[in-house]
Amino acid sequence: MKDTDWNDYSLETQAIRAGHKRTHEDEHSIPIFATSSYVFNSAEEAALRFTGQKPGNIYSRFTNPTVNAFQERLAFMEKGERCLAFASGMAAIMAVGMGLLKTGDHVVCSRGVFGNTVLMFQNYFGKFGVETDFVDLIDSAAWEAAIKPNTRFLFLETPSNPLIEIADIAELADIAHRHGCLLVVDNCFCTPVLQKPFELGADIVIHSATKYIDGQGRCVGGAVIASEDIIEKSIYPYLRTGGATMSPFNAWVFLSGLETLAIRMKAHCDSAFELAKWLEQQPGIAKVHYPGLPSHAQHELAKRQQSHFGGIVSFELDGGKEQAWKLIDSTQMLSITANLGDVKTTITHPATTTHGRLTPEVRAAAGIKDGLVRISVGLENLDDIKNDLSRGLI
Ligand SMILES: *Cc1c(COP(=O)(O)O)cnc(C)c1O
Repeated sequence: MKDTDWNDYSLETQAIRAGHKRTHEDEHSIPIFATSSYVFNSAEEAALRFTGQKPGNIYSRFTNPTVNAFQERLAFMEKGERCLAFASGMAAIMAVGMGLLKTGDHVVCSRGVFGNTVLMFQNYFGKFGVETDFVDLIDSAAWEAAIKPNTRFLFLETPSNPLIEIADIAELADIAHRHGCLLVVDNCFCTPVLQKPFELGADIVIHSATKYIDGQGRCVGGAVIASEDIIEKSIYPYLRTGGATMSPFNAWVFLSGLETLAIRMKAHCDSAFELAKWLEQQPGIAKVHYPGLPSHAQHELAKRQQSHFGGIVSFELDGGKEQAWKLIDSTQMLSITANLGDVKTTITHPATTTHGRLTPEVRAAAGIKDGLVRISVGLENLDDIKNDLSRGLI
């Protein structure tokens, strides 16, 4: 391929063309390199590659050309220096902790992060003497107050799940840096199409590629994007040893997912915005959570920080759990699943599924009411989605 500097191109173009190093077979589409290891021309070359004196592939737990293509493409799209792919979003989060933390370190984490992320910090890093304090995503003063001399990083997701609250990334990056900490942002809900955390001062971006990057609910995968220095010193050595590598097949699926990400995200956002406005007009709904609505507490921040408002909408029914379950069970087309970011619209009841393990008190403190329903708006015709929901609305 011609020597192109993809930095000169826009995200939509990078998503389609960056990362492919065409082989001598002149292929147009990126191939799946289904190989676990690589051969060397001589014993000396093998030795040089193992010591890192000569670049090149050694073993697919470390590097693989199809996975490399995915990593390079996503790094360009996020405007980050380097990306490493992982077997899942959780494996990516695990790698950040394993790479950066040691016994005696401290983490400040948003209370509104993915449930397994809470468990990862609390139960697993906690077991090895890393302490984590959880704070309200949108309370910047609480973030700053929770920082200790041994705090290594702040970890957040914005927008949050399932209440779609928005954190001010620039403000939290500033707080983190003033205290000598890093800011880690899980950018799964927005993807680089809607939000670029590095431009706002974040140090590390995490992805669950399982969601919008795949976009069609086929593969599980994740990624960490950071500076060359962080990746080279802290994340890559752990990936190489820890082994939660992305498979070449999954990387190939995610590469084609990236190619359509921008147009899919626009369509998800347009439908979600329309659906949120429609839901606000429906009977029996106490509140709709969507950052595109002027009624959303961080509407102005969302307008500033994101290029669109996202594909996830949640809302509270007056009739509590009974009404929420009735609505969910009345649908004929929507998929009852906690997954999100799919072309298929999904509907879930957070209080009894994703957040069901929390005690009622903790759930109430987190603002997750029994009547709350979350929808990941897919790409079906919007009228069909509305009609399906109408069946269960009083
Ligand atoms: C799903 C999800 C994860 C975990 O990713 P997996 O690919 O399922 O391991 C992490 N963060 C967020 C925001 C998610 O939605």
